Amino acid sequence: MASIFYDTHAHLDYPDFADELPQVVARAHAAGIAKIISIGTDLESSRRAVKLAEEFPNVFAVVGWHPTHASEAPVDLRPALRELAKHPKVVALGETGLDYHRLPSASPESKVQSPKSPSPLTVLPSEGKGESEDTHYKRKQAELFQQHLEVAAELGLNCVIHQRDALEDTISQLQPFANRVRGVFHCFANDPAAMRRIIDLGSLVSFTGILTFKNGQNIRDTLAATPNDRFMLETDCPYLAPVPYRGKRGEPAYVKEISEVAAQVKKCSLEELSRATCATANEFFRGLS
Ligand SMILES: [Zn+2]
Repeated sequence: MASIFYDTHAHLDYPDFADELPQVVARAHAAGIAKIISIGTDLESSRRAVKLAEEFPNVFAVVGWHPTHASEAPVDLRPALRELAKHPKVVALGETGLDYHRLPSASPESKVQSPKSPSPLTVLPSEGKGESEDTHYKRKQAELFQQHLEVAAELGLNCVIHQRDALEDTISQLQPFANRVRGVFHCFANDPAAMRRIIDLGSLVSFTGILTFKNGQNIRDTLAATPNDRFMLETDCPYLAPVPYRGKRGEPAYVKEISEVAAQVKKCSLEELSRATCATANEFFRGLS
């Protein structure tokens, strides 16, 4: 029998899946992907994730507001987070965090959608006041991240963290909450030293299909250095489909391909990897098990 894995980070509510959700969920099940966590990126997306969790027994939801959409977020997201988090299938808050990859002062070309961003940023031309716009954008992200952390601490939930080009600020903002809130630094792409700082805070990392990419050796090195009980697997679908699907739309079933490479990197059996990663996820996400 095939080993069981979870997709701990999928965006099932995205239009990419709308035409064939039951088939996508069924293919995951057939591939041994026993649970799928659908991650919200704003309130509408979070509500859709909750709906999917109601519809499909093996789908769970994480609710929050993605940092790259910070400019459109309400001033105070906390009441909405508290309300959504009451749902028994909401297993964490997020995705939240900091993303300095494309700041408003960047050139218009940088608006092109990248695999890490759920939708193109709507940024205005900087018109020579880039620096203050950047400062404003960063502050808005930090406020939003803070609100997720506060509600997570209040409700005893953990956070799914998106971090890009903002490791120092993300860690220092998480630090004061570290005894109450743990984060999973999703789509982890930093080095082993960064991974160690994160696990020292009691937090986790998770790895995507980048593990399977030819140019993913640095990520494989980080995974090799990560303790077996400190990481999870995810697709971040529809993005980052693993080899041999690279460049196509990803889906939760592809955790299978990711797990095969992860087991090679960790020099362990699929069964051991399954046991470790599922136990870590069951322990991290409230009500997942
Ligand atoms: Zn995501």
